[in-house]
Amino acid sequence: MAHRPSIRFDIITLFPQIFSGFVSESLLAKAIDRGLVEVVVHNLRDWSPDQRHHKVDAPPYGGGPGMLIQVEPTVECVEAVRAMHEDPGELILLTPTGRRLRQPMVADLARSRRLILLCGRYEGFDHRVVEILQPREISLGDFVLNGGEVAAMALVEATMRLIPGVLGDAASPIEDSFSDQDLLEFPQYTRPREFRGHCVPEVLLSGNHQQIAAWRAAQRVARTAARRRDHLSPDAPSEAE
Ligand code: SAM
Repeated sequence: MAHRPSIRFDIITLFPQIFSGFVSESLLAKAIDRGLVEVVVHNLRDWSPDQRHHKVDAPPYGGGPGMLIQVEPTVECVEAVRAMHEDPGELILLTPTGRRLRQPMVADLARSRRLILLCGRYEGFDHRVVEILQPREISLGDFVLNGGEVAAMALVEATMRLIPGVLGDAASPIEDSFSDQDLLEFPQYTRPREFRGHCVPEVLLSGNHQQIAAWRAAQRVARTAARRRDHLSPDAPSEAE
């Protein structure tokens, strides 16, 4: 029986082809096939008032390098895309000036039924896009990409893997880094038991589930203390402790 996807992503971009491999491979392709996730890609140029060249950019007022994506085609495109589904969804603008994407925000996004992702290019958008559409502005990190597409893909992947039924082993997102009290994941090992003198820790071969769980819990704290102390509460023990 066909059922409604748990989440629909509408992606607005000047480069729709970037997404063709992304949606047709691996877990995302499977989730789409199984009807759990829907991804619809829209070409912003289709809303260009310039019927001949489909231009959507112009130089910034006040001067400066590069071009900006214009307000008119962007607002009209978002309004049209919103109207394509009964749920207007939440509009997200991918921008380095937005709030940084972190796992709690991903968990919040995964509760949505529909997300509309707006990908910039060039020097970004005319600021009136933000004034008029009031999107949630999200950054992938403190660096500048050429466009919002890679950031949109990261957001889609991080979000869709939290949709119930998407991952084979339902427990795995719970144990992932940043999912349990913001801690990093413990180190993991698989066959062989020894390679070039590097052995799998004995405790993992012991079959004692309590000891394994305790070892893993301690490893998570130690790793987080060593690598990401900013993720531990101020009164957490130091690495040495
Ligand atoms: N002039 C902009 C600035 O300095 O903030 C950078 C524009 S960037 C070259 C072009 C587009 O890439 C942006 O509009 C945005 O959509 C996307 N982008 C770049 N870096 C990003 C990041 N860290 N997170 C999310 N999107 C990003």
